[in-house]
Amino acid sequence: MSEPDLFELENSAVAGARAVFCNPDAGAEAYRRTLGELIGHYERLMRETRRLIRRSDREELEMNRLNQRLQELARELEFRATRDTLTGALNRGAVIEQAGVILAGGSLALIVLDIDHFKRVNDTLGHPVGDAVIRGVTECLTQTVLDAGMVGRVGGEEFAALLPARPLGAAMDLANRIRLRIAAHTFAEAPELQVTASFGVSWNPRGTSFEYAYGRADEALYEAKRSGRNRVVSAQAPEAALPLS
Ligand code: GH3
Ligand code: MG
Ligand code: MG
Repeated sequence: MSEPDLFELENSAVAGARAVFCNPDAGAEAYRRTLGELIGHYERLMRETRRLIRRSDREELEMNRLNQRLQELARELEFRATRDTLTGALNRGAVIEQAGVILAGGSLALIVLDIDHFKRVNDTLGHPVGDAVIRGVTECLTQTVLDAGMVGRVGGEEFAALLPARPLGAAMDLANRIRLRIAAHTFAEAPELQVTASFGVSWNPRGTSFEYAYGRADEALYEAKRSGRNRVVSAQAPEAALPLS
């Protein structure tokens, strides 16, 4: 089926005008009438054009607005996909991904910490207070790490700090400052409660994996728990831990 001609009226007016134009015997009255018709059609075309321009401006505005909203939603979606809902810190998946990115380009100091005797908090004060403690510990962590690295929640009451290109000694100092901050923190939901955490720290050269970095930090954390909790233990030097090639 052929498309309807949008300019059918104008086409027939132009055809009529052309016929008058080609006829040397057409009188003045015919010229006048034809010119009048052409003026009418020309004005109608101008009105239509203005209306279409206004409509397309409105639609362009609306399209820009929708585009902006779409970009906002995409950013929000990415934020949600990488964040832990309770604390707003990076979630486990994002920690693993970021560690991989850092280790591909350079060294990574990894701090892993776990709240001491956290089960008791839940058992004696209830799960909501337990949640508030997890949030408070995250606050201590992020406020100490600041822009030295990234902070994530890697398990129920276990957290990690990723410190790119930071020597082991500096990472140990930072872990110790986090430890002191947590021990001194007052939780509004349970002002009498004192919470401590244990820490494992590993330094990992470029090209190693998250599993390698985490495994060594976790072993050190286990040692911190075993030797009395509320302390920072470093993993052995990577040269000693890596198999000799
Ligand atoms: P340790 O010093 O050896 O780490 O002892 P712990 O009691 O901290 O460790 P354990 O692994 O025995 O207990 C951890 C508890 O954390 C058990 C679990 O119910 C609780 N937990 C895990 N995730 C959440 C959470 O999102 N909210 C709350 N309130 N509790 C949680
Ligand atoms: Mg614990
Ligand atoms: Mg734990």
